[in-house]
Amino acid sequence: MKQIAVMKVPERVVIPVTEPLVAIGDTVNVGQKIGESEHSSVSGEVVEISKLSNKNVLSLVIKTSEDLSIEFQPKENPSPEGIKQILKLAGIPIELTPSEIVILNGTDEKPYVTANHALMLEYLDEILGGLKILMKATGASRGVIVICDSDSDVMGVMKADAKENEIEIIPSKTTYVQCTEDLMKNAIAKGSKAMVSNIGIAKAVYDAVFLGKPLIEAVVTVTGAKESQNVLARIGAPLRSLIETCGGYEGEPEKIIVNGPMTGTAQYTDEVPVTKGTYGVLVQYDGTTGEIRPCIDCARCVDVCPKDLLPNVLAISADHARFDVCVTYRLKDCIECGSCAYVCPSKIPIVQLIKYAKAELEKKE
Ligand code: SF4
Ligand code: SF4
Repeated sequence: MKQIAVMKVPERVVIPVTEPLVAIGDTVNVGQKIGESEHSSVSGEVVEISKLSNKNVLSLVIKTSEDLSIEFQPKENPSPEGIKQILKLAGIPIELTPSEIVILNGTDEKPYVTANHALMLEYLDEILGGLKILMKATGASRGVIVICDSDSDVMGVMKADAKENEIEIIPSKTTYVQCTEDLMKNAIAKGSKAMVSNIGIAKAVYDAVFLGKPLIEAVVTVTGAKESQNVLARIGAPLRSLIETCGGYEGEPEKIIVNGPMTGTAQYTDEVPVTKGTYGVLVQYDGTTGEIRPCIDCARCVDVCPKDLLPNVLAISADHARFDVCVTYRLKDCIECGSCAYVCPSKIPIVQLIKYAKAELEKKE
């Protein structure tokens, strides 16, 4: 069964660019460079260039037409320096640092997100190939993919190929906090120089080097539409078009959250475009978002905190503007993983309160 649905090309896309290389009225094709590190994900006409969602960044609006692509030009056996250049030109957001180990995070560390799982089942060769390229570029001799211990299907399909490629597969506990970058480095690299990346980036690296294709798509888990599924989306497509690919809304949406309920961002319009960093869209309906209630001192947040903090104390102190207490209780050690807020039965927005306290303290520094 196909793990990833391919969305229809939307009527228009909105792509933020640092410095536009095209003008209004120009026609562009799929893969064409349109900004310093941005490429068109569709073919069509540039109809608008303006500061749309972010006042500091220009966005290109492209009205789509027949789906035509530029000719991609792969490079054969590039040197480590050549790989760095290719990835930069392909617009892949990755910093290559000299390393002994490259670790790919294959876990879906946010609830309702299964994009990595689907990618590993559908693009195993590409992911292994991308990891090998990253190892070559960083000088690493060890390549590791971390998967959830519950992903027995992934382990089943990966085991033999990974062994053949001398890649280690390490299962991790299925909790939403195990796989932050620092925790992974500490648990796996144990002092060796390590670079952590993820499955989606490894696939993009493969595409850039072996196919000559820039980063113009993202795999996004859509949950809360009529059919929850993973969708291969064009960068710049409105969230609405992903939801339509999944059969549309189930009712009147109250909130759309991008990138998971724990640390994601609520959007109040489905016209928001998919970016290179989008991996999850969650639709919530009336009555499903829950009301905030007072803390009941259940300590669930304390039990799940990977940094051994007291999230309840941090949240209450932030709420009362007692930032000095937040500092005493190691506010800065919080990695904003969102696990505390996820388990809180009172639906207290602990992470938002922690972020607020950090921002207030920063102002005073
Ligand atoms: S968000 Fe911060 S306080 Fe909450 S569980 Fe994660 S590290 Fe702990
Ligand atoms: S999980 Fe929520 S209700 Fe329970 S102690 Fe933490 S903040 Fe309070």
